[in-house]
Amino acid sequence: MISEAKPTVRTFDIAVLPGDGIGVDVTREAVRVLKAVAPALDGINLSFHAYNVGAAEYLRSGNPLPADALEACGKADAVLLGAMGLPSVRWPDGKEMTPQLDLREKFQLYCGLRPIRLYHEQDTPLKRYKAGEIDFVIVRESTEGLFSARLSQTDAAKGEVCDIMRITRAGSERVCRAAFEQAMQRRKHCTLVDKANVLPSMVYFRSVFDDVAKEFPAVKADHCYVDAAALYLVQRPHTFDVIVTENMFGDILSDLAAGLIGGMGMAPSADIGETCAVFQPSHGSAPDIAGKGIANPIATILSAALMLEWFELPGALNGAQRIRHAVETVLADPANRTPDGGGNLTTTQMADKVIMSL
Ligand code: NAD
Repeated sequence: MISEAKPTVRTFDIAVLPGDGIGVDVTREAVRVLKAVAPALDGINLSFHAYNVGAAEYLRSGNPLPADALEACGKADAVLLGAMGLPSVRWPDGKEMTPQLDLREKFQLYCGLRPIRLYHEQDTPLKRYKAGEIDFVIVRESTEGLFSARLSQTDAAKGEVCDIMRITRAGSERVCRAAFEQAMQRRKHCTLVDKANVLPSMVYFRSVFDDVAKEFPAVKADHCYVDAAALYLVQRPHTFDVIVTENMFGDILSDLAAGLIGGMGMAPSADIGETCAVFQPSHGSAPDIAGKGIANPIATILSAALMLEWFELPGALNGAQRIRHAVETVLADPANRTPDGGGNLTTTQMADKVIMSL
């Protein structure tokens, strides 16, 4: 008798860090969407474990990123994160809790992938653009740059404080390479956004970008100063395909870019390293709307799709495509919006629509 081999099923462990404010609401809905798509993930199981991390956890235990959560993130196949930090909760030196940045540095999640896509003409303040006509990716370096100054000691009594922008060859090479690889899968255009007219660190970053560009002759490579990039992103965002930039510039331009497609609630992101990755919306904990049940969960749902894509197995890629398609179908009807998009759906109702569309 010939026994049939059982199909192998791979289980992916996902550490869920809801965090603070609306992070709790949007991750809950993204997990619901992942559970709804799970039956279609051929050969894949998803298991979820939640951990308390963030400003609220700091108030509870004195540590915004407890060791068990950190260890679980390291062991998990992926991390799904909501948002961390509350403006009212600070270290004695005045800075906020930012465990999301600790994770990026600890696990060397150097590639901050921020896809920007317009789903409906109603969502953009730029009235000449239709759905799909704004479609680019920001690749934000996420382990060095100006953010590397965040843990430095300062002595305000000296009457001056300096933040150092750290740019390394290794750090720049890997992020530029990741950006060119993105461009190869897209419209084959990669733009470095820098400040090489003024800052020596940016001259260096540009020289590394130019070196890496030689490895990708099929990709059109160009440069743009960050101040001009802010202008062009508003004037002609359709001309960008992949933007690669330093940590702080990427932080600022991602919010500007989110504003082009309906706001922070529409902008997903992934922080990707060699072996570990964190998926989260680009937004923060939005204290102004926290607890009201009206946060837009789309950015987190799309981040969950990025996570499935990162798993790379065919079943997961299919799941990612299904989620994106469901989001696109739901957003095609301008009535399907949370209040940030001019509608009156709650966070849960918006996720329900996506799940129904799945
Ligand atoms: P924010 O992104 O939380 O909010 C900016 C604006 O966008 C607010 O008007 C908010 O209501 C709106 N918004 C954000 N997400 C939304 C959503 N899903 N649906 C509808 N509207 C949404 O930025 P902020 O106000 O500058 O920061 C608030 C807190 O979040 C701070 O403590 C900050 O440090 C923290 N933060 C955390 C992260 C992160 O965890 N990755 C990122 C940015 C800010």
